[in-house]
Amino acid sequence: MVEESIQREAIEAAVHAVAERIEAEKTYLTELDSAIGDADHGANLHRGMQAVVEAIEDTDEEDPAALVKLVGRTLVSEVGGAAGPLYGGSIMSASTEFAEGIDTASTVAFAEAYLAKVEDRGGATVGDKTMVDALTPAVHTYKKSIEQDELPPLAALAKAVDAAERGVAFTTPIRASKGRASYLGWRSVGHQDPGATSTLYCLEAILDVATEYLDGEIDRDATSPTVPDESAEADGSPEGEE
Ligand code: ADP
Ligand code: MG
Repeated sequence: MVEESIQREAIEAAVHAVAERIEAEKTYLTELDSAIGDADHGANLHRGMQAVVEAIEDTDEEDPAALVKLVGRTLVSEVGGAAGPLYGGSIMSASTEFAEGIDTASTVAFAEAYLAKVEDRGGATVGDKTMVDALTPAVHTYKKSIEQDELPPLAALAKAVDAAERGVAFTTPIRASKGRASYLGWRSVGHQDPGATSTLYCLEAILDVATEYLDGEIDRDATSPTVPDESAEADGSPEGEE
């Protein structure tokens, strides 16, 4: 487990990266939402993430669970609509998984708790044309990559992002059965879901930050064994993975 100050730095970096990505995609997300919703998804999330950036900058809090909870609380109060409680409330609820700090196991627990809360709050499952369609394959892929395939967290996250991307593509040809888009019935077919799309952007931004923070750690583990002759094979850690 890395020090709390480094964890705070990583959370801050992730918040900035997500905020920048949402800002860059604000118009596109709103365009997607204008086709099957009420044209506010980009603006909603942008406003929310700007508030999150300010909230994180304004606090001296170092505890990762408290910081992540603050992210969720700020989104709930600033975003509104369907996405506010789904994103924010689920982050708040899942933040307790970081009570002992951020490590590989707690990120898996966080991802699972976040998905469970989104499903619980929104009542959507895969195939309803919502953010759940991007999130579910991403979370399952992340967990399996770490727990069964024993990939390093960064490789697992990269696979999760790929899975989310396929999930987003899957939302286009299907009919919406939850949220505002469901009011359109069959007319929602042929349009990509905005919430699934923003979920992918958040994951991509987090992957960028994780690459910055974890590359060093993976390289250190892989290239600086304490006992050069033995440990490379003895610890059995998968090497050469992307
Ligand atoms: P609103 O629909 O209230 O305007 P947003 O436009 O901010 O809220 O967010 C719309 C997105 O929220 C949709 O694209 C979809 O991904 C997601 N969403 C809507 N309803 C649900 C639900 N019941 N469960 C999961 N996700 C949902
Ligand atoms: Mg909307």
